[in-house]
Amino acid sequence: MRVLKFGGTSVGDAENIRRVVRVVKTKVGEPVVLVFSAMGGTTDKLEEIGHLASQGKFEESLAVISSLRGLHFQIIGQLLDDSPGKAEVTAFCDRTFRTLEEMARSLSVLADFSPAVQDRLLGYGEILSSRILAEVLRQEGIPVEWVDARELIVSTPEHTAADPIFEETAKRCREKLLPLLEDGRVPVTQGFIASSADGVMTTLGRGGSDYTASLIGASLGADEIEIWTDVDGVMTADPSLVPQARRIPVMSFNEAAELAFFGARVLHPKTLVPAVERGIPVRVLNTRRPEGQGTVILAEAPPNGQRVKSIAYKEGMTLVTLVSTEMFKAHGYLRRIFEIFDRFRVSADVVATSEVSVAIAVWDASRLPLIAAELEKYGSVAVKPNQAVVCVVGERLKETPGIVCQIFEDLCDVKTSMVSLGGSEINLSFVVDEDELPKVITRLHRRFFERQDEGAKQRTPDTRKKSKEAVGGTKA
Ligand code: ADP
Ligand code: ASP
Ligand code: MG
Repeated sequence: MRVLKFGGTSVGDAENIRRVVRVVKTKVGEPVVLVFSAMGGTTDKLEEIGHLASQGKFEESLAVISSLRGLHFQIIGQLLDDSPGKAEVTAFCDRTFRTLEEMARSLSVLADFSPAVQDRLLGYGEILSSRILAEVLRQEGIPVEWVDARELIVSTPEHTAADPIFEETAKRCREKLLPLLEDGRVPVTQGFIASSADGVMTTLGRGGSDYTASLIGASLGADEIEIWTDVDGVMTADPSLVPQARRIPVMSFNEAAELAFFGARVLHPKTLVPAVERGIPVRVLNTRRPEGQGTVILAEAPPNGQRVKSIAYKEGMTLVTLVSTEMFKAHGYLRRIFEIFDRFRVSADVVATSEVSVAIAVWDASRLPLIAAELEKYGSVAVKPNQAVVCVVGERLKETPGIVCQIFEDLCDVKTSMVSLGGSEINLSFVVDEDELPKVITRLHRRFFERQDEGAKQRTPDTRKKSKEAVGGTKA
């Protein structure tokens, strides 16, 4: 049994949807559950609609709704033959777009885009795409059954980033999906959306459709969870930044989780959790090149001779530094600092400490003014926005002699505000100005993945000087 999840890029236009149909057809006969994201760019546009309307720009919000309507009806027109099914989907989409207009009108009056409304509004993307996709597949002769994910995924009531409640989710998935599978049907559902135990709609956070697929796979004890996207697999770096990036054939759960957490958008950071707990392999595949092997993510990955496996980055970080002499030899100090972050529900993504100071990189800066005000009770606080965390991931990185030297060898001219190694066996992270990111990622990629032919691959520190000359040198 497999769960196949198709991302926004795979369902963003008629050509890609035809590819999805071809992939699904190759699986017919086996038990599969299909999870669809919203059509590419839809969720961003729904968010824009909410912001525009609640800021009183109602007409502008209607224009965005109209462009979304255009995209969805164009796809219906291109892919569906006239039939009662097409008429039903058309009527459904029509009603949905009218609801969106009514929501925008209400938001413009209320001027309040609350998290609960945000979940309702953004969730329409997946509902629309899955309805259309289900009908496309049905017309292709696949015995699909549309299932509402809000009846499968049960979550906490935290809007915009709810946590699934696994036991209840597993129970519902088994109750609703197993009879369909046993009957030879193909359930089609939505990623991203869920509902609380009281039936209030929630979402699992942006990019959360991967997580939905993993939750369903774990609930049903799937043999494999397949994440179909627009790249050949998990790559040695983000291919949109490094075109030379290469596919990583096999990764461990831990390596992939570090990458996902530190910004490799290809997987939602929580995706691997349900899979890890049940040892279910997760495979990342390219809808545009379905014949590829993709990347398989397993509990344990055999060593591939490559010390560094991949480089990820996360932009939009803020670095908070607290310097305090009170900290000197005082126990319980860090606990008090972290309690402040905890109280404001902001997670500390990377941390470095010295005897009198602590530096914390955070992604969610919305509550930082409040946090900084609390921290100031303990010492002087500096807040530095526009930072990026770079994360180098590889098996047993911590134990590798000279690895720090190798990583920073070509970055002598880059100002690094913080370095963290040792928290995990497999990750070294550091913080740089956002502007430096393309340079840093490009050089690291070249250092670890593109210089093998020069015999310079992952050298030991004593070969350092020679190799620097070989690449034309960086400012030392
Ligand atoms: P989907 O719509 O299929 O969910 P996403 O945009 O969420 O697709 O994720 C795929 C994108 O992730 C790729 O297009 C790529 O730019 C980005 N990405 C970032 N880091 C990596 C990486 N290490 N390997 C592969 N893709 C990555
Ligand atoms: N459509 C949602 C988003 O864009 C969920 C997803 O694509 O995974 O965030
Ligand atoms: Mg995604």
